[in-house]
Amino acid sequence: ISSKLPDTTPSIFSLMSGMANEYNAINLSQGFPNFETDKKLKDLVTKAMNNGYNQYPPSHGVEELREEIINKIANLYDKEYDPETEITLTAGATQALYCAITAFIHPGDEVIVLKPAYDSYEPTIRINGGKPVLIQLKGEDYKVDWNEVNKAITPRTRMIVINTPHNPTGTILSEEDMKNLEQILDGTDIILLSDEVYEHLIFDGKEHQSASKFPGLSERAVVCASFGKTFHNTGWKTGYCVAPEYLMKEIWKVHEVTVFSVNHPMQRAYAEYIKKPEHYLELSPFYQKKRDLFLNLIEQSRFSYTPSSGTYFQLLNYSEITQENDVTFAEKLVKENGLAAIPVSVFNIDQKDHKQLRFCFAKTDETLERAAEILCKL
Ligand code: PMP
Ligand code: GLN
Repeated sequence: ISSKLPDTTPSIFSLMSGMANEYNAINLSQGFPNFETDKKLKDLVTKAMNNGYNQYPPSHGVEELREEIINKIANLYDKEYDPETEITLTAGATQALYCAITAFIHPGDEVIVLKPAYDSYEPTIRINGGKPVLIQLKGEDYKVDWNEVNKAITPRTRMIVINTPHNPTGTILSEEDMKNLEQILDGTDIILLSDEVYEHLIFDGKEHQSASKFPGLSERAVVCASFGKTFHNTGWKTGYCVAPEYLMKEIWKVHEVTVFSVNHPMQRAYAEYIKKPEHYLELSPFYQKKRDLFLNLIEQSRFSYTPSSGTYFQLLNYSEITQENDVTFAEKLVKENGLAAIPVSVFNIDQKDHKQLRFCFAKTDETLERAAEILCKL
């Protein structure tokens, strides 16, 4: 068969979670919480089902939920989207990303992707005949070199993908970064795809810089978000994207032929649940406590790190322990020590020199304690 994605292998998340199960290891690899979503939210889903919301909702999402999301964005980022024409509820952020790339990328179009990058962007660009133009983030703190981004722009550049807070590094883009980007894109027709699934997980008093906040960006941006990350239910696969109408119009076309609409009772439940801002605003302190617990517990270990600024991931550098590459080290860690993590090199351009693993701290304190015990013995 002639594969459309000959170089795409099964995702590292499936691979590592599979190994964690096989070796009965503690799983800090794939990013998902090992604690329950709020019972109040589950009860709202049950209520919606009992109230008969079990058939197709409107293709772009339940009206009440669209309105609540739009209000949330207006309050947080001071940007008014139209709930009728500028938002679509999707099957997780993954489908929003897929629809946005598919709607706009023609064969031969170039898309700038900053590496390391979440693993769905590049195959989606390729399946549409596009060409990912990869730019490595710089140094241990993974900074964007905006000069390099500027130089990578050609007449074929159709889109640039950013992700803040950033998976897998836990870094965030600053206001200055966003202003640099605004300047670079000014006068072009390049679309910005802004992956902001970790918008509510940001630490140490820092502020999320949404593309929605910057007029020169929001006029060309598709901003993607995920309820799975925000409400501890990645398995419900519900997310959304917002964009100006001239872009959303095209995204809808792809959305309608991909899934038409996404689960109805969950949308009803989220609409009720996000009316209370504390349900998402309490998330950053909640996860900051987990990050700090994890980092305190491994203080005596031989790992070094910069504390994560956002997401629920922490990178740890293991070069004091071994010079093995990260894939080998991650395999040993799961097989011999019973702890699964994600090797970071698989997301980078230069896959040789990385001595970092990514650990997910969206876990119960007890799980983090058991994991830290293993890490301190290495
Ligand atoms: N973007 C990033 C950066 C992610 O880490 C993830 C994974 N959770 C997604 C998108 C996909 O989100 P969802 O699970 O809602 O499809
Ligand atoms: N975003 C999650 C992670 O980075 C995993 C999502 C997935 O399994 N595709 O671990």
